[in-house]
Amino acid sequence: MQDDFDLVVRGALVVAEHDIEVMDVGVAGERIAALAAPGTLRATRTIEAPPGGVLVPGGIDTHTHIAWPIADGVRGLDDFGSATRAAAVSGTTTVIDFVPATTGPLLAAAEARLEEAATSAIDYTFHPVLTRMTPERLREIAGLVDAGLASFKIYTTYDDRLDDGEIRAVMETIAQAGGLAGFHAENHAILERAKTAVLAGAGAAIEGFPGSRPGSAESAAIGLVTHFARELGAPVFVYHVSGGDALSAIESARESGVQVQAETCIHYLVLDDGVYSRPDAWKYVITPPVRGRDDQLRLWDALRAGVLGSVASDHCAYGLEHKLPGVGDFTLLPPGAPGLDARIPMLWQHGVTEGRLDLRQFAEVSATGPARTFGLYPCKGAIRVGADADLVLWDPARAWTWPVWERGWGSDYEPYEGMGGAGLPVLTLSRGRIVARDGRFEGDEAAGRFVPQRIDTQVWPR
Ligand SMILES: [Zn+2]
Repeated sequence: MQDDFDLVVRGALVVAEHDIEVMDVGVAGERIAALAAPGTLRATRTIEAPPGGVLVPGGIDTHTHIAWPIADGVRGLDDFGSATRAAAVSGTTTVIDFVPATTGPLLAAAEARLEEAATSAIDYTFHPVLTRMTPERLREIAGLVDAGLASFKIYTTYDDRLDDGEIRAVMETIAQAGGLAGFHAENHAILERAKTAVLAGAGAAIEGFPGSRPGSAESAAIGLVTHFARELGAPVFVYHVSGGDALSAIESARESGVQVQAETCIHYLVLDDGVYSRPDAWKYVITPPVRGRDDQLRLWDALRAGVLGSVASDHCAYGLEHKLPGVGDFTLLPPGAPGLDARIPMLWQHGVTEGRLDLRQFAEVSATGPARTFGLYPCKGAIRVGADADLVLWDPARAWTWPVWERGWGSDYEPYEGMGGAGLPVLTLSRGRIVARDGRFEGDEAAGRFVPQRIDTQVWPR
């Protein structure tokens, strides 16, 4: 007798798109082919879930900086191969990284980045970074959207920032092309003034760092870009929302009908500004900064309410060599932190295990919301027949202390060192292939594929 499926996951509580129940999930080739009553599907290979096992859609990290050019000729300490293997082990099956800013043609830069990503073990796509606007640059945008690189990142601060007029023009062009403009939203002038005040007072010690980047800088920048979004009828995305000020600006824009989606990052959910008085405070120089307990509570509320659609890592594999020269002066510290592999286990622990998110909400903010926002749905982001078989099986009872897995890749320090929890991925499938099991990468190197984005605000999370 012939088997109907290549693989069946049996006995797990399945967080499917419309139901959460114990089911068999049948995989044929790269796709989910059947959801059926437990014990009813026959396959070449059957994987029994552990007691209490939960099957969720593979995680989508909407914000990573793999092998990132952090200075002239200096890269982060990972590459697409090592970073995506660690992602697979920890429950992520798709990463949305960036095409770094370029002075040359954008499409050529995108092609170079795609080539670099060819060693990925899981699927990937990119947000091109837009800087230094020129008429030629505006003309390049439609070509990128057509190529499936449809979500962009624009800075409102740093040397790469655009001015208000450029921001408005680029938002109009992106919207006309059917793409999505996304912002690192912190008002540059407010940041500069706050930094000057901190340096004149307490000086450059890291304790002063959060005061140099107040939440009002975020709300002011979000106010501006959502104003343009309303005026132009353009959708807009906000990267790394850190707390209450930014949320208030997003909520009021939404109430007035603006199509705005936003992410927060795992560090804003599990850390608070107490980290800046620790001896290892340098690890937490991240922009925007980690904020207070009240901000953290508001972020969890916003995830449950659907105001925030995703939880990203903002991963960048800095090492001690990049960070330690700045420990006495926050203005010398390059901002950012590693976290690609910590994102999902931390979200499970602080969300599901500690009762802040139910399983539906966990799937929503780790996979479904990101897929809908960035034009990867319905292929990715949900357990439904016909979707890519990107699946992660969890053992909610498995206890851990961070770091869980042998490092051997990326950064040589760890922001979450010593934190603990319960619940770990025990199996990860990427398009039907087993890529990780029990903390070990098992897949083929370089089997990941570029996933083109087709932005569709009709399917955006509410
Ligand atoms: Zn980032």
